Amino acid sequence: MSSFYVQNFGCRATQADGAALEQQLSAQGLERAEQPGQAQVVVLNTCTVTAAADQDARAAIRRIHRANPGCQILVTGCYAQRAPEEIASLPGVRWVVGNSHKHQISELVGGDVARASGANGAEDTNFFPLNELQTPRSNSASLLVGDIFAHTELLAAPVFDALAERTRPNLKVQDGCNNRCSFCVIPFVRGRSRSLPLEEIIGQVSHLVAAGYREVVISGINLGRWGSDLRPQLRFPALVRAILEQTGLERLRLSSIEPMDWSEELIELAAGSPRIAKHAHVPLQSGSDDILRRMHRKYRPWHYAQRLRKIRQAMPTAAIGADVMVGFPGESAADFEQTRALVEELPFTYLHVFTYSARPGTPAATLPEKVPAPIAHERNRVLRELAAQKKLAFQRSFVDKTLEAITLSTYDGECTEALSDNYLKLRLAGRHEANQWLTVNIKSASAGELLAVINS
Ligand code: SF4
Repeated sequence: MSSFYVQNFGCRATQADGAALEQQLSAQGLERAEQPGQAQVVVLNTCTVTAAADQDARAAIRRIHRANPGCQILVTGCYAQRAPEEIASLPGVRWVVGNSHKHQISELVGGDVARASGANGAEDTNFFPLNELQTPRSNSASLLVGDIFAHTELLAAPVFDALAERTRPNLKVQDGCNNRCSFCVIPFVRGRSRSLPLEEIIGQVSHLVAAGYREVVISGINLGRWGSDLRPQLRFPALVRAILEQTGLERLRLSSIEPMDWSEELIELAAGSPRIAKHAHVPLQSGSDDILRRMHRKYRPWHYAQRLRKIRQAMPTAAIGADVMVGFPGESAADFEQTRALVEELPFTYLHVFTYSARPGTPAATLPEKVPAPIAHERNRVLRELAAQKKLAFQRSFVDKTLEAITLSTYDGECTEALSDNYLKLRLAGRHEANQWLTVNIKSASAGELLAVINS
């Protein structure tokens, strides 16, 4: 039997696509290998959010080809959609398949492997419908990339955050984005917003509940837009309500939701149900009005601050996080100071800080006034330091208090890792079975580490 290995890069949506690909390849009769070195087909599911992400993918291709020159490498994902020719020129690459044709990968690989082994007859016709851009390469790599805006398929399968952590499946319910933030390449590589139909989501969540999972994370590229493409149109809070009403899920966690989608209705719903994790991730990007405009973001700093305060007021112990970008073209010292001051003022408990990276084809990539790298890095450092202080203050505020937490599967010989309802990573004294909800008492918070014991 032929074997495959899927390596994912990037965000939760890409991880979810990778999980779906694994399922589809297994359904084609291919066997999952434990390591890329043991596989006959290696699928690299790439990200292109920064130049560094592209670089990581290229380095992985070279590494895999060096270590296992006999394997066939298939590159897919966002980088494959954005720059197929660039990838096809790398040694060892057999196929480059854009996100537009990702749903056909198992058919492509399965058919090719079957032909190679003679199982499908020796007929060498085009098994795969080559209706779009497929160009034979000098190194025999084939490209299969179409117009992403013309494709509507959405890959979805529950995915687990890390191999070691088999307790909190992540379910992608939405893909693509209709916004055009000027720095963002995602719409060009993932297409327009598409939603998984409600019944399918309910089915998937019920399936996970029946399999014993207690917390499920729902995610998407622009999750708050879920339902806007469905007919009849639905709104995101309707999905949350339906999951609560129609499944027995104990804990639902919402991943990133844009500030303007944190409606009064959603805030009330999240605050009012003990089955929704007290956790809001709300991308900010910048605290400068001018930079937000240039980013083509749809809100102003005061809108954002207003939403965030409402979330905090409704959920006083919630984890509140944001993505913040530094070094966007034209970001002056004064712009950055506005971001820093806003971050300082708002009740964040953690931040993801990114340094702007110009993506070919995006409007921001053509803007003048690049911020010099050392300045951007220094701004990144300042925000990270501020975020670390805020995180520690949040952690310390729970010492001697009780929290609800789910045990994860990591045990280091002394403690078991657990995650609280409000997204705090805990070290729980002793060994505990994974996937249990426990009420724990927080003993101490030092060096960013929270120690907890089971509440007796
Ligand atoms: S909302 Fe903006 S940043 Fe987010 S995926 Fe859409 S275009 Fe990109």
